[in-house]
Amino acid sequence: MSRIKVGDEVVVLSGKDKGKIGKVIERIPKENKLVVEGVNVVKRHIRARRRGQESGIVEKEAPIPSCKVMLICPRCGKRTRIGVKITELAEGEKEKLRICKKCGEVID
Ligand SMILES: [Zn+2]
Repeated sequence: MSRIKVGDEVVVLSGKDKGKIGKVIERIPKENKLVVEGVNVVKRHIRARRRGQESGIVEKEAPIPSCKVMLICPRCGKRTRIGVKITELAEGEKEKLRICKKCGEVID
């Protein structure tokens, strides 16, 4: 699974939404997919199942493979791959931080 998290800003690398930028709103680790705000929007026809319920068309983001997006670094604003920095907090206690491969800054 990619190191992208919910809330990250990503850019789409290929497909019909190539170049689009959006926020990750959901991760689906099992399928290695992400749902990105405003990206890969599909129209779904909703049929009224109960009386009083309205039928119509709903637009919703469909998941895209996480390899199709790249993180936009919140520090330098460039698209980047994510590195990992492990810092030792105390004896035996380690913290994994994500770092930007472009500017080297810690992302979170
Ligand atoms: Zn950066």
